[in-house]
Amino acid sequence: MTDVSQFTKGADKPHIVILGAGPAGLAAAHTLTRSGQARVTVIERADRAGGNSASFPIEGVICDYGSHRFHPAAEPEVLSDVKQLLGDDLLLRPRHGRIRLGGKWIHFPLKLTDALMRLPKPFALSLIGDMVLKLFRKKSTGPATFSTVLYDGLGPTISENFYFPYVRKLWGLDPDKLAVTLAERRVGSGSVGKILMKMLRLMPGLRSETAGRFYYPRQGFGQISDVMLESARKNGAEFMFETEITRIKRNGNRVTGLTVQNENGEAQLDGDLILSTIPLTGLTRLIDEPPTPVVEAARTIRFRGMILLYLILETDQFTEFDAHYFPETSIPISRMSEPKNYSASSEPKGVTVLCAELPCDPGEKWWDMPDEDLGREFTGWLGQLGLPVTVPVRRCETRRLGHAYPVYDIDYQTRFDTVDQWLSGLEGLLVFGRQGLFAHDNTHHAFAMAYAAAECIGPDGQIDRAKWNDYREIFATHIVED
Ligand SMILES: Cc1cc2nc3c(=O)[nH]c(=O)nc-3n(C[C@H](O)[C@H](O)[C@H](O)COP(=O)(O)OP(=O)(O)OC[C@H]3O[C@@H](n4cnc5c(N)ncnc54)[C@H](O)[C@@H]3O)c2cc1C
Repeated sequence: MTDVSQFTKGADKPHIVILGAGPAGLAAAHTLTRSGQARVTVIERADRAGGNSASFPIEGVICDYGSHRFHPAAEPEVLSDVKQLLGDDLLLRPRHGRIRLGGKWIHFPLKLTDALMRLPKPFALSLIGDMVLKLFRKKSTGPATFSTVLYDGLGPTISENFYFPYVRKLWGLDPDKLAVTLAERRVGSGSVGKILMKMLRLMPGLRSETAGRFYYPRQGFGQISDVMLESARKNGAEFMFETEITRIKRNGNRVTGLTVQNENGEAQLDGDLILSTIPLTGLTRLIDEPPTPVVEAARTIRFRGMILLYLILETDQFTEFDAHYFPETSIPISRMSEPKNYSASSEPKGVTVLCAELPCDPGEKWWDMPDEDLGREFTGWLGQLGLPVTVPVRRCETRRLGHAYPVYDIDYQTRFDTVDQWLSGLEGLLVFGRQGLFAHDNTHHAFAMAYAAAECIGPDGQIDRAKWNDYREIFATHIVED
């Protein structure tokens, strides 16, 4: 048994145990130790920090878990911290992507002149028709879904040619089987007018300093997590990697501690407060004897998985674009990025990596396919898109994410509320982060949640629940930036 005396209560400040060292857990550890508010121990199952926002090298090319950008829309406090922690290593880069639509490439973010020139003519005419007819179109009746909200707001052309096939691919469900929440979280521009305004704001003379740009660390997106990890460690936070949580103890309405297991054996942690950023489904299973309705609800809450395919090519650069978006269902990948283009790195020479995002759940045909076969499929899809791979392919590597996206199917809200309300009623526990609140969010939102959590913790380790509930309402307004 590990010596756990360092984890016991009774010191001058509360001892807080954080579950998960993704952006949410790291930001909580960073802010709580920087203010000196608490002693902090972080438990992480993986052998590294950063969660889905980490980076890793492949043949000297720094790769992310799919396309990751730090968005200028981040809350001012979050942005200022990230800028301060990264200094000159935080680059402000122009976005330079393309969307494949009706056999044409259109710049993304959309630019007015480019869209006018390149949009397939039938698509453009139909779009204009939608705008005119919107004035006369009857609103959908019956229960609102992702499909009805988009149809009413954006009209049939964009809905049917862009969003509907895209969500089918991303979530594996038809748009009328998806909840309104997805539209609220994911579709920032809910009308053609708003899309046009966005394009206008990108025009020279009307553009703000950050419009059409994104922040990206020189050493990959994961560098943001790395500097937060460093800061928290420097300020005294303890990190336990490759550590499994085997039990979260509960006495009535209070969470009283947890048991963890790693190569050193088993340890009992007895903190004043647990901050959990791990998936709420797994968390529920770890807590002593959850009520049956909670177990049932948690069992049916689903996350969408994803395979990331990294194709290693013997060339300096494959295209000049950072990302290619594939809304159409003719190929199963949703996006492809070229990591070197994110930081405009010309190193290493003679090699580049293409990262494809293939939404897919365990059990689907792609999930167990060997890397070599997936690599062959990937090059085939590129050929189909008019991007033939004519340079030598070294190999294909993959990574699999079990919890890439929360699935907001039409029945999810009741099930989520059942689990959330039970977890929220337990003293000594606070749940947040993408996986904890089942929130389809960006990294900066995960940071904002962590900062809000720290603000709600009193000197005795107690949570100001009223304040937290106010923050939860703000979190519900977070909109995902792509
Ligand atoms: C393909 C893709 C592209 C994205 N692109 C962007 C983007 O461009 N910009 C952006 O801002 N955001 C982007 N995001 C979102 C971003 O990745 C998340 O918002 C962010 O990682 C959420 O942080 P988190 O800490 O809440 O969760 P996670 O990153 O999921 O971290 C959770 C952590 O908990 C750990 N954990 C899980 N279970 C346990 C357990 N039982 N015990 C201990 N530890 C456990 C995990 O190992 C992980 O480290 C993207 C996400 C995906 C999937």
